[in-house]
Amino acid sequence: MTLSKHIINWYIKHKRDLPWRHTNNPYFIWLSEIILQQTRVEQGMPYYLKFTNKYKTVKQLALAKDDDVMKMWQGLGYYNRAANMLNTARIIMKEHKGVFPKTYENLLKLKGIGPYTAAAISSFAFNEAQAVVDGNVYRVLSRIFCIDEPINSSVGKKIFAQLAQEILDDKLPALHNQALMELGAMVCKPRSPICGECPVRLECMAFAKKTISNYPVKIKKNKPQDRFVNYFFIEQKNKTFIAQRTENAIWKGLYELPNFESEKTIESEKIINQKKFISLFGNMEELNVEKIFFEKHQLTHQTIYANFFKLTSPQKIKPLPDGFIQVRLIELKKYAVSRLFDKFLNYLNLHSNL
Ligand code: SF4
Repeated sequence: MTLSKHIINWYIKHKRDLPWRHTNNPYFIWLSEIILQQTRVEQGMPYYLKFTNKYKTVKQLALAKDDDVMKMWQGLGYYNRAANMLNTARIIMKEHKGVFPKTYENLLKLKGIGPYTAAAISSFAFNEAQAVVDGNVYRVLSRIFCIDEPINSSVGKKIFAQLAQEILDDKLPALHNQALMELGAMVCKPRSPICGECPVRLECMAFAKKTISNYPVKIKKNKPQDRFVNYFFIEQKNKTFIAQRTENAIWKGLYELPNFESEKTIESEKIINQKKFISLFGNMEELNVEKIFFEKHQLTHQTIYANFFKLTSPQKIKPLPDGFIQVRLIELKKYAVSRLFDKFLNYLNLHSNL
């Protein structure tokens, strides 16, 4: 029996019942793939259900308001996925009359769809013989074949893509791909693989050599960068100021309080004299600044030390730069915000009448 047959037989008996496994609609498959990138199934599932319930077709998604989609995405992280998803939906409407391209090659031409997603859609929806290579597949293959090439090197990526294609069952690509991914998720886990239940134990070189913990090999990434961000909550007549992030960086499209970065944490007494503070708020005499909330927020590549200051003044605070809007406090929850900002809103909820 081939490696693929072993894995498929195991999958048929042990697979989890997941909603996106009951469809071959390319739109739903695409949605599930975007949602599940860098996200656990349990966390992604409610989002998949919410999105497919509200936007039943790619046309409905393409017509959605950016802010509504960002709000619905809130809490899932990696917000550029939501922005790209919306972009791609609009391109599919504009350039493909709302019909998903059917082949791997044509899917790849769509901005926002890379090799992984193109392989997933073309194989799951159209049964094209394209091997899917995600983190699970890298791990399983690196262990079965004891591959020492780092999975995050360009050479490694080519080797794994080739190998995945070689072992693919051409007649059952959808089943094969799903089975291999499921094996990685449920049995060949990153830390404690359950080799006793593995259908390819006898074929697995790392199992035979007792070298499982050496795989997959990865080039070590730099340690996360520290960032210090000062946020300002200006409460005036039950309103405050927020702006939407437009830079091409994390949290693009989300709303946030006026803020600036500093090289280290700054205390309330000193923040007022910072140049960046003065350029935001001017030189105000009767300004009261109080640090009310601190959060150390961990992202994949950065650690954010976020200090939230409350500003109050009997004077009118000078108009903030363009882009800021004044919103009622009770309406803040309607805006799409980062998880960090959401933690601050929860704090406010507890400490005021929001
Ligand atoms: S035998 Fe163990 S290490 Fe090898 S593929 Fe199976 S679960 Fe992974």
